[in-house]
Amino acid sequence: MSKKKKLKDKVSVQESSSGLGLFAKKEFKKDAVIGRIKGKVSSDESLDPRYVMELANEKVLVPKAPFRYLNHSCRPNCEIFDWEDDSPDSKTGTKDLYLGVIRKVKSGEELTIDYAWPADFAIPCACGSKKCRGYIVDKEELHLIANEK
Ligand SMILES: [Zn+2]
Repeated sequence: MSKKKKLKDKVSVQESSSGLGLFAKKEFKKDAVIGRIKGKVSSDESLDPRYVMELANEKVLVPKAPFRYLNHSCRPNCEIFDWEDDSPDSKTGTKDLYLGVIRKVKSGEELTIDYAWPADFAIPCACGSKKCRGYIVDKEELHLIANEK
């Protein structure tokens, strides 16, 4: 019998330094999969790109709780991925997204991803990591901000 833990046993939504955040309720090893990111698949181009996750076919996922509370860090401990072997959904042509751990996470630690926003949407970052870029922005687009501001 599988003893798969439920999502609510693994993570919780709590107050963080930047509004609500998603926190680990247990220790996770590198490469652990926290869960599938549920939400609404949309092709609405007017949605704010900062609050959606990119999918194939110019579609985006509007994540539901708890994953919509994932905050940004310039040195994140998680990333969003899809399985290469998964076949895309027949209706939307997109694959499910998952949250995976990219370095060891202690129980109680906040889970973060790199938002990698386009330079046009960048805002100052207060993630506090040693390698903070100063802005919530895609690494590749940081030079665009440095030139402008
Ligand atoms: Zn930062």
